[in-house]
Amino acid sequence: MNIKAMNTPAMNTPAMNTPAMNTPAMNAPAMNARGTVHVVGAGIAGLAAAVLLASRGARVSLHEAAGHGGGRCRSFHDEVLGRTIDNGNHLLLAGNRAVMKFLDHIGSRDTLAGPADASFAFADLRTGERWSLRPNAGRLPWWIFSRSRRAPGTTAGDYLAVLRLARADARATVADRINVGRPAFARFWEPMVLAVLNADAHEAAARLLWPVMTEIFGRGAEAARPLIAAKGLSRSFVEPALRFLESRGATIRFNHRLRAVERQGEHVHALEFVRTRHDIAKADRVVLAVPPASMAELLPEISTPRGSRAIVNGHFLVKAPLPADLPFLGLIGGTAHWLFIRGDIVSVTVSAADALAEVANDEIARRLWADIARALSLPAAPLPPWRIVKEKRATFAQIPEELPRRAKTATPWRNLFLAGDWTDTGLPCTIEGAARSGFAAAEGALGG
Ligand SMILES: Cc1cc2nc3c(=O)[nH]c(=O)nc-3n(C[C@H](O)[C@H](O)[C@H](O)COP(=O)(O)OP(=O)(O)OC[C@H]3O[C@@H](n4cnc5c(N)ncnc54)[C@H](O)[C@@H]3O)c2cc1C
Repeated sequence: MNIKAMNTPAMNTPAMNTPAMNTPAMNAPAMNARGTVHVVGAGIAGLAAAVLLASRGARVSLHEAAGHGGGRCRSFHDEVLGRTIDNGNHLLLAGNRAVMKFLDHIGSRDTLAGPADASFAFADLRTGERWSLRPNAGRLPWWIFSRSRRAPGTTAGDYLAVLRLARADARATVADRINVGRPAFARFWEPMVLAVLNADAHEAAARLLWPVMTEIFGRGAEAARPLIAAKGLSRSFVEPALRFLESRGATIRFNHRLRAVERQGEHVHALEFVRTRHDIAKADRVVLAVPPASMAELLPEISTPRGSRAIVNGHFLVKAPLPADLPFLGLIGGTAHWLFIRGDIVSVTVSAADALAEVANDEIARRLWADIARALSLPAAPLPPWRIVKEKRATFAQIPEELPRRAKTATPWRNLFLAGDWTDTGLPCTIEGAARSGFAAAEGALGG
């Protein structure tokens, strides 16, 4: 990777001005061909914005605070396991349109893998029961009327309750709309809410679950087919995106933290990084694709969600033979919620894990291994080599109070656009939402 160093000397920061107008910007005028788009943040949202811009011939300069791209969706080499692992397991769906568009641009759609059909396998760790949810082909979801395609002990009516989410008002939680006393709650609704909203059903915003449920189960089996990045998140999403950008002449700067956005009236006129400062010319545009906490520091005028929820992942190096035909498994009745197998690494995810994230790593490893051993019929001892990854700000708190705080793509500054999974995409914090937000910001910067 050709990472170009900045040579511009640092300058004093001029006094920052608040915008004269608080009204949202009108669409930016079509970009002058010679302008540069500065994209700040190389998570999925920033990468998607940069890739779309570069594919349309824009000159792109990408700035990232960390020494690597990917943000909350990345791989790293772990010394203890001697393997490259992901910060956390990520599940995608074949019907994630923006994700597929992004992967098609960067040529890595074929790095995703999953079962041949839409099949979500589950194991109940308390009872030992196993089943698979198997949505059918075609838009009419007749699978809910077939006992062999749904969770044991559930009825078609339990799934038709999804329609109650469509009519949920902005203040409703999932538990307000779905009967938590029925067996279908533990066997279907709770795993879905945790996976999609990273929050307990008693606080999770019902309104945010609806678009994903329609995406998973309302567009037929092909769209619902689950996929994982079989060779790791960076191999699918980050490395090919950076190669694509480099091939289009983009400038990529890591370890380049944005410290201040200088703005006057309706325009941003300079970006101040830790050691350098960039003037923003009239034809330039800026896309900020940073998480809410950074955004609140950079631009306090922009409304951002305030709370966050954690996700904990445990990765274990397993020498025993592992099932080859089971890329992932939903777990009920334990600490872990989802189990993924990649080569000789078994990884488990715990969502809405704020309390667990306070527990010592070796204790977490013991609890998670107990679940894995039961699910895969492996010996409970000795504990294999492990690595615990705690993402304390994995997503913003996807609860009703936070939804009005999601910001729009356009800002009061005509040359500045926002991206990030936390912006007002109408979707939960997912790769799909992040990619969609990046595309929207890129379109804004292009004047589209
Ligand atoms: C453990 C875990 C599991 C998940 N599971 C799933 C899943 O199964 N399916 C799914 O679809 N989604 C999942 N997600 C969510 C998904 O990872 C995120 O929605 C997505 O990666 C967010 O991308 P983003 O670009 O919006 O933000 P980020 O990834 O946070 O990117 C923002 C970038 O901005 C950089 N930055 C911050 N401040 C500055 C600054 N001042 N200057 C320059 N750069 C800055 C950061 O370093 C970062 O690289 C999961 C997330 C986690 C953490």
